[in-house]
Amino acid sequence: AAAAAARKTATTLTVAVKCRPFARRDYGHNIVRVSDSKEVLVLDPDLSKDYLDRIQNRTKEKKYRFDHAFGPECSNRDVYSRCIDSTISGVVQGLNATVFAYGSTGSGKTYTMVGTKNDPGLMVLSLHTIFHLIKQDSSSDEFQVNCSYLEVYNEVIYDLLEKSSGHLELREDPVKGIVVAGLKSIKVHSADKIVELLNLGNSRRKTESTEANATSSRSHAVLEITVKRKQKNKYRNQVMQGKLALVDLAGSERASETNNGGQKLRDGANINRSLLALANCINALGKQQKKGLAYVPYRNSKLTRILKDGLSGNSQTVMVATISPADSQYHHTVNTLKYADRAK
Ligand code: ADP
Ligand code: MG
Repeated sequence: AAAAAARKTATTLTVAVKCRPFARRDYGHNIVRVSDSKEVLVLDPDLSKDYLDRIQNRTKEKKYRFDHAFGPECSNRDVYSRCIDSTISGVVQGLNATVFAYGSTGSGKTYTMVGTKNDPGLMVLSLHTIFHLIKQDSSSDEFQVNCSYLEVYNEVIYDLLEKSSGHLELREDPVKGIVVAGLKSIKVHSADKIVELLNLGNSRRKTESTEANATSSRSHAVLEITVKRKQKNKYRNQVMQGKLALVDLAGSERASETNNGGQKLRDGANINRSLLALANCINALGKQQKKGLAYVPYRNSKLTRILKDGLSGNSQTVMVATISPADSQYHHTVNTLKYADRAK
């Protein structure tokens, strides 16, 4: 009974997989494709026999099951409506949530989170819904929406809304909890304005690469949207606050090197500390969901301390694991799928 009660207040974790379309630059390789059903990782029927033999000799077929799986034909809006939309109303009611994109460099994390004009990403779609819900709200409550956008690079925090941001420090505030001291927080009135700011902020990120073979992108970008709701009636004057963190993580290729065989993730000299710490927190949340209480090690990195509110209590956490269909990315794909599979 205690375990059941604990489970009720535990953080819910949803794991989705998204495969980006095959791109022109991937030609010359064959395809490993994710189906849009719940059973994931099917080999494309157009694959050459030679490649099939090679892959099957080496690995046999691998099958994983996730809460959701999106193929190359799916848009960001598809991911949004199936995995995120229901979470957003909670944020407007004062709950916390975290959405993050996990995957190797070039697998589509930034595309999924920020997107394009024709295929807006989860950050933009979430904000659209927040403003839509506020507009529809029939109470006399007052709302205020604020955004901040920061980067964690080599365990240093930078403000992506500032032209040339200095190093920012984390502080423990007795009331607010963990805060990033001096981080710019802007009041937003519409979702459209934020797109400009996101693109500007992204251009300031330390390593942003769209080339699959470029050096790994080691920076994490965190968009935090705060929705303050002031309830005004003659009995009370209460303020509720919901926080939504949307995270475009650093490339997972480094983490996966130490992440095979189900061992506990280890910290190492050249390994992205925040990414590993987040991975360990997600593993712990997965265990918590299955077996009841488990210790979640938030304190081990800047990123996990920043995200703590959205990864604890009765928050909702959504992980979107992004993968590429190209066979050149096979090892990264398998590592990402294994990782995502273990999170559940
Ligand atoms: P990451 O942030 O994981 O390093 P990106 O989001 O930059 O990867 O994606 C790598 C490349 O693939 C980019 O050129 C991006 O535009 C393209 N891409 C990713 N996902 C899609 C998609 N669903 N549709 C079209 N192009 C995509
Ligand atoms: Mg990126």
